[in-house]
Amino acid sequence: MNNKKSNFPADDAPSYESVLQCMRCGFCLPTCPTFALTGRERSSPRGRVALARAVHEGRLDFTEALKDESFFCLDCRACATACPSGVKAGEVMEICRGQARSAFPGGHLSATLRRFVLERMLPDPARLEGSMLPARLYQRLGIQWLVRHSHLLKLGPDWLEKAEGMLPKLEMPLRPRLPELTPARGRKRGRVAFFLGCVMSLLYPEVSRQTVRVLAHQGFDVITPRATRCCGAPHLAEGDRQTARRLARHNLELFLAEEVDAIVTDCAGCGAILKEYDELLAETVPAGRRETFRARVRDISEFLAEAGLRTDGLGEVRASVTYHEPCHLCHAQGISKQPRELLRAIPGVELREMNESSWCCGSAATWGLKFTDASRQILKRKLDNVRATGADYLVTANPGCQLQLAWGVKQAGLPQQVRHLMELLGRATPE
Ligand code: SF4
Ligand code: SF4
Repeated sequence: MNNKKSNFPADDAPSYESVLQCMRCGFCLPTCPTFALTGRERSSPRGRVALARAVHEGRLDFTEALKDESFFCLDCRACATACPSGVKAGEVMEICRGQARSAFPGGHLSATLRRFVLERMLPDPARLEGSMLPARLYQRLGIQWLVRHSHLLKLGPDWLEKAEGMLPKLEMPLRPRLPELTPARGRKRGRVAFFLGCVMSLLYPEVSRQTVRVLAHQGFDVITPRATRCCGAPHLAEGDRQTARRLARHNLELFLAEEVDAIVTDCAGCGAILKEYDELLAETVPAGRRETFRARVRDISEFLAEAGLRTDGLGEVRASVTYHEPCHLCHAQGISKQPRELLRAIPGVELREMNESSWCCGSAATWGLKFTDASRQILKRKLDNVRATGADYLVTANPGCQLQLAWGVKQAGLPQQVRHLMELLGRATPE
């Protein structure tokens, strides 16, 4: 239902029902990292939804304050987990970002740059892969060593120093190297399609290589379509819903063309968006196709827990481990127990729970670079909880969290090694 008096500046506004549902109980307030930081009602889920409702009812123009709040929201979805009314303040804010782009388009240069990245770079895997060459040369030729030791980056903006510090050691992208079919090993149990996310392919290729190897070892033929494109998460985060829909449509048709039991990903951010294609494509793709796609999408931990992990032949990994829950796994997909089950199933692993394991790490795609101070404060709370476990490894299941946590651990001088769940399972899986 749309409200006739609405002051939203463009089509594609949040639905009126989505903001009407809030009964102002405040159960969401203690779960919201930006409310915890600021104590401001307008930076809380309840306050954000109230702003959107006032715009819907024509009581407020689409103000700069709502634009700021839509981008200051981490979209961590912790409020949705806590809300008894089913309000999804994070999603409402995500949709408001598209409105903000219409109401406040910004300067010509930044708008052109944003469009280039969102519309030309991210949808084109080969172009993205090519763009990483200078960064690999920067690391290989020793320029990174010089830059870090000269403290040159201290002269630039905060985000630049942080982004440089977060860069893992870069390998060749995985997408062109991964066979389109990796055959099952041992007794065959099925056939799956693997959704290789861009960040995984570019920054953590070894993690996804292990994911495919583990799946094959578990008895599944793995199809990895080379024509997979970005899932659209960065576009939704930046308010470009049109390009996100274009990418979603492409991926949906590509994966539906495969005869598979499941579509599996090892990136929590990608998984959350793939499961939301159903709503994103509601007006352009027939319901049956959307439902078939949605029913097949699984996070790797969800898939292996459902299929039952074959533990015969798994080697020992003697280590204590604590687990950070990515927001897009626990809050957006409701997956909490499955990664823990997998960790406990690895011989030799001792799982030590940290306090507030589902509290955001402060990464949230580019949020951690736009709001560096706020991000540092959120990360500190997380790292204090990590430190208290004394575990050898800090394990997670999303590349954005992994980048932020690895950077934070290094900055804080903590001894933990940060790993993706599949790196540990891969280590236990024989070659
Ligand atoms: S968003 Fe949900 S939890 Fe928060 S005040 Fe509204 S109804 Fe209550
Ligand atoms: S999605 Fe996260 S940051 Fe945004 S309102 Fe909800 S709890 Fe707060």
